[in-house]
Amino acid sequence: MLDTAQLIKLLAQPKKIVITTHHKPDGDAMGSSLGLYNYLIQQGHHARVITPTDYPAFLNWMPGNGDVTIYTDKIAECDRLIADADLIFCLDFNALGRINEMGERVGESKALKVMIDHHLEPADFDDYRFWDINACATAQLVYKFIASELGNPQLINADVATCLYTGIMTDSASFRLPNTTSEVHRIVADLIDLGAVNWRIHELVYNDSSEDRLRFLGHCLVNRLEVYNDFNTAVIAVDKHDLERYNVITGDTEGVVNYALSISNVRLAAFIVERNDKVKLSLRSKGDFPANDICKKYFNGGGHRNAAGGTSTESFPDVIEKFKSILPEYKNLLVQ
Ligand code: 5GP
Ligand code: MN
Repeated sequence: MLDTAQLIKLLAQPKKIVITTHHKPDGDAMGSSLGLYNYLIQQGHHARVITPTDYPAFLNWMPGNGDVTIYTDKIAECDRLIADADLIFCLDFNALGRINEMGERVGESKALKVMIDHHLEPADFDDYRFWDINACATAQLVYKFIASELGNPQLINADVATCLYTGIMTDSASFRLPNTTSEVHRIVADLIDLGAVNWRIHELVYNDSSEDRLRFLGHCLVNRLEVYNDFNTAVIAVDKHDLERYNVITGDTEGVVNYALSISNVRLAAFIVERNDKVKLSLRSKGDFPANDICKKYFNGGGHRNAAGGTSTESFPDVIEKFKSILPEYKNLLVQ
């Protein structure tokens, strides 16, 4: 393991750097990655953000977005960059399986791996770790990494601030989750002072829907929402036909689960979606209910206590039944 002094010494000279983040990147994945990117390029580093897959259009406006490469679009070029890198920053994930087939390339690269993350139970593939599960977003950790750990608060310019604000805003569900501490609000206030235009960022991320997306949401709420009041649980399950009918594209399903969670007695909400080769689950919970426990135990996944995800290769109807069948096990925590 490197210590911070050694990392600072390494970064004192321009380096070849790859920044990567988890597949199907969300606002924190892109915001923390591009925030770090905009910091590093000011110091003359040759930095590139590589995402394992594409990401929603409502995240494609951030400063530096033009320099993001999607791995599956340019595999040979990305493999070369990964193999030749001096340093690889791994942001907002902590196990190489979360970056799909890129994980093998990153694992075998001679580059030093820096993990900045806030998920539970990190795997052991890194050479330097800046990790805190109490952080509401990896973007919050990138702010602290730059300002305190590396001691360069003056390099948090408007571009860095804009990206980090986006990461914190999205991962804290717009400053609503329990981990949105006063410290988070102080950091966010600082980011606004440094040039993040908070109302504009909110508009770019949340007021960017297509008509199809909104009608899909309507369909989910009217026709697909099921509430199990005995377990204070709500489920929205959509199959392939639903996705086709509303021309659902990457990002359109984001946030749908929160509507199910907004029912007053509901403590656990699930969004279950039938994809081509698997079924994906997104779980959200209120208070101390451990959504990640269910994902880890039953759906090959994980995440945070209040926001977790997983997948299954069982059939779509079987996954729905399986989810319902495990609710009695959690009844004591769901009904209090
Ligand atoms: P989402 O429901 O938005 O896909 O994911 C919610 C949270 O759960 C995110 O913080 C994400 O990192 C985590 N997560 C989602 N899917 C998986 C998965 O398959 N494995 C693990 N370990 N975490 C996941
Ligand atoms: Mn995150």
